[in-house]
Amino acid sequence: MAAWLLQPIQPPPLRHDQHGQPWHDGDVPELPEVEALAAFLREQAVGRVVARIDVAAISVLKTYDPPLTSLQGLTITDVYRHGKFLDIDCDGLHFITHLARGGWLRWSESLSPTPPRPGRGPLAVRLHLATGAGFDLTEAGTKKRLAVYVVRDPTEVPGIARLGVDPLSEEFTQKRLRGILDEAGRAQIKGVLRDQSVVAGIGNAYSDEVLHVARLSPFHPASSLTDHEVATLHAAIVETLREAVERSEGLAAQDLKDTKRSGMRVHGRTGEPCPVCGDTVREVSFADSSLQYCPTCQTGGKPLADRRLSRLLK
Ligand SMILES: [Zn+2]
Repeated sequence: MAAWLLQPIQPPPLRHDQHGQPWHDGDVPELPEVEALAAFLREQAVGRVVARIDVAAISVLKTYDPPLTSLQGLTITDVYRHGKFLDIDCDGLHFITHLARGGWLRWSESLSPTPPRPGRGPLAVRLHLATGAGFDLTEAGTKKRLAVYVVRDPTEVPGIARLGVDPLSEEFTQKRLRGILDEAGRAQIKGVLRDQSVVAGIGNAYSDEVLHVARLSPFHPASSLTDHEVATLHAAIVETLREAVERSEGLAAQDLKDTKRSGMRVHGRTGEPCPVCGDTVREVSFADSSLQYCPTCQTGGKPLADRRLSRLLK
């Protein structure tokens, strides 16, 4: 067994999208889902005028200048994705949201014109278009982390300013990935992949999937990958994300979550057979999340130590 397999396990670094609840209670929309939401909104909302924005949960608003009301009367000119952020360009002003765990966007062709009562239910923000259509930003659960920003330039959002390379961009080459991994040193590959300041848009779910495709242990030290392994990992990242984006293309916002879940090979599938080799998918639990992997495909057939489990057994 490789020496690093015997070392105490460090949980993946905690980032802004990791909060309190077990992963299975909700999933943070990652690159493919946000990409699909952006495409969906581009289709539905570009060319339409913002009529009004209702705020039911004031805590989601992270900026005050320019005010939310300054978007009223502006035309939506484009919709972009930055990492896991969704950016609605309203004629040069940007309405940006990070959905976080439990957050979602619900589109409606006919929104209720009655202003929502603050603090009731999952509704956080409702954006009305002049046509009567629009969307709700909702957040389930008690950890309120959904965030909305109104800015003149997307890079005014700190989480966007520090984003690393987009894995679907041309800049994300094998050489770039090698550089990223070398810089990460002995850090575990799983944590490196989901660090937004290193690679933008990959979270807990797609990092599990990518590592399964690449047949790498989530705890493999980043800088000790061979050139062949880096090439395999690069291809796994690009292909996994591309396929997920393609699966989501043309889907309505409400169907994206189910599509994400059903497309997973190992993530969220503890106890189920690996679709490649039939071994049982296992998990490692952390305080606020868990990861899934296949021992045969990824760790030479040996289960990874689960610190929480071994503590429980003492
Ligand atoms: Zn397997």
